[in-house]
Amino acid sequence: MSEMRRVTAIKNGTVVDHIPSGNALMVIRMLRIDVSRSTPVSLVMNVPSDKVGRKDVLKIEDRELSQEELDRLALIAPAASIAIIRNHAVAEKLVVDLPSDLINIASCSFSNCITKNDREPLPQRLRVISQDPLEVRCYYCGKGQEISELIDNIL
Ligand SMILES: [Zn+2]
Repeated sequence: MSEMRRVTAIKNGTVVDHIPSGNALMVIRMLRIDVSRSTPVSLVMNVPSDKVGRKDVLKIEDRELSQEELDRLALIAPAASIAIIRNHAVAEKLVVDLPSDLINIASCSFSNCITKNDREPLPQRLRVISQDPLEVRCYYCGKGQEISELIDNIL
């Protein structure tokens, strides 16, 4: 509880806790939160944590993240724990679940991949080979995807 109090309490919204230290800005990007236009977002970085050493915590007001949005975070914050806050109380707790196939989450980085053929559109499908260390390959062409590429190619 004391850890959570470091961030101003919110009335309604989503708290994403246990983000690996330094990854919070990537989380904001992956969730496609436009910080210039969105509801208030508060961010605390480098908080000591028993679970992950040091962590970042993100609070997004007046927005409840869906499981689908959360699963994107598995790439950069697999141990994140999420609380949906309604009327100052935790209404739901959610965890991030890294799927074995990332369908239409990010596109393949290989420019000649079959998925780049506009005439016969295929869903983007990236396969998670290993979680730690993260290894992700395109289902179609087999190209390994760097984490930076995945983030650049988020759909
Ligand atoms: Zn590919």
